[in-house]
Formats: sequence, structure tokens, C-alpha cells
Amino acid sequence: MSGFEGSYLGANDRISPAAIMECKICWTPYDPAEGDDFRQISPGTPFTDLPDDWHCPGCDAPKTQFMVLEDPGSAQTATLTDIATRTARLVADFVEVYHAKMRDVPIINKALHVQAVGFRPHEGRPLGVLLSPWFMNLILLPEAGEDWSTLTPGTKEVITFPSGDYEFLHNTRETVGGYKACSLFSPMTDFASQRDAVEVAEAVMAALFTPDARAETDRAADIRAVREAELAPPPQPEPAPLAPTRRTVISAGLARGAD
Ligand code: FE
Repeated sequence: MSGFEGSYLGANDRISPAAIMECKICWTPYDPAEGDDFRQISPGTPFTDLPDDWHCPGCDAPKTQFMVLEDPGSAQTATLTDIATRTARLVADFVEVYHAKMRDVPIINKALHVQAVGFRPHEGRPLGVLLSPWFMNLILLPEAGEDWSTLTPGTKEVITFPSGDYEFLHNTRETVGGYKACSLFSPMTDFASQRDAVEVAEAVMAALFTPDARAETDRAADIRAVREAELAPPPQPEPAPLAPTRRTVISAGLARGAD
């Protein structure tokens, strides 16, 4: 492990792989996009991955004499770290709910476990899929600094994505605070394995941002009708809407694909 001095004082984990570094003695830059021809460092090698005996191509100073010149990846790295921390908290919370209340409920699918899938920033807010042995929901978390702890649980809000409008329910939990959830599947009895469920969750995240999903409405509605006819009786976790909503159309189509 080699460090470097300067604005980050040797904290390798504080710079992103895209960081452009500069020798503070002779101002020679190290740009990971270019690598270092002289020492056969191939383009794409992050500064933190340079060998410990790598020296400044300009003045032979050691790695420790480099400081951050520019780090285009640092804001994104911070965001992703923040998202990882918060989704881990969400997962821990629902694992606790599972052990406290759900594990012996008949609708539980024992092949599944709680997992956060595909969380990414959406207009500054973490968005992804939370799947569990008893539900799969789209989850929207507040932006850093935004307080959703005063949301009224059960309040409905329609949120628009490129593929259509989705109804989210506001909710709050003691450990994770406020969040908005859009139900995709419940119960989860149709999923044969965690891998199947994760694949569908990933497909949902892709379909959400695909305008083409709108055009498939009719076909997906047909698929959904056929699928419901196959299931006797069809699961009715909530009153059936008069017409399929965008999300049921999309999720039902995806579920069919995962069978
Ligand atoms: Fe130098």
C-alpha cells in the first residue's frame, strides 16, 4: 500500500480511479487515461494502482509526492458510497422485520432473501428495487439533506418515469426514515430463486427508463390476462384496478419473462 501527500493526505480511498494527480515538485501530471509510457503503465491504470516503486516521470520523486490535480470521479464516488450505506440500512431493517414478524407467515417465499438491487441516483435521489421473501418494491430515498421523516405513511404520489406513471406510497421507518415505495410484486411466490428475482428487479430498473415500454402496453396486458387466467385463484394483495396500471403491465410482463 502506497500513499501520497497533498490535499488528501494519503487517503487512497478518498480519490476515484479517474483522479488526475500532479507531482508537487515538478508539476508533472499523472493522468490515468494516458498511463505512463516510460514505465509501461497502460492507459486506464488508476493512480492508486501504480506499483509502489513508481516514480515521477519528470523528476523521479516517489508516489508520495503527488497530490490531486483534478478528480472528476470524486463526486460520483461519494454519491455511490452514500447510496450503498443507506441501502445497507434499508436491507438490515427489512431483515429485522422478516425475523420479527414475517418468517412464519404462509406467503413467505423461503427461497428469497432481502436484497437491494440496482440503486442509483435519480434526480439526486437514490432509486432502486428492494426485494424480500414477501414483496418487490421500487424504492425512492430522499436526497442527502432532504428530510422525509414527516411524510404521512399511506399517502399516494404519482411519480413519472420515461416508461410511464407509477404510484408510490409514502412510508417511514424508525431506522431508515422516510421513503417512497411502489409495489411491483406481492407476494413473491412465483419466483423460483433469488437469481430470478434479482433478474426481474434489474429488468424493472431498465424498463423504467425505457420509453418503448409504453408501446408494449397492449401486448403486456394480453400476457397479463393470460397469466392471471393460469393462476387460480389469482393473488389479490390489493383491490384490482379497473384498468391495468402502467406498473402492473410492466411488472407482469417482466414476471412472465422470468417464468
Ligand atoms: Fe516530479
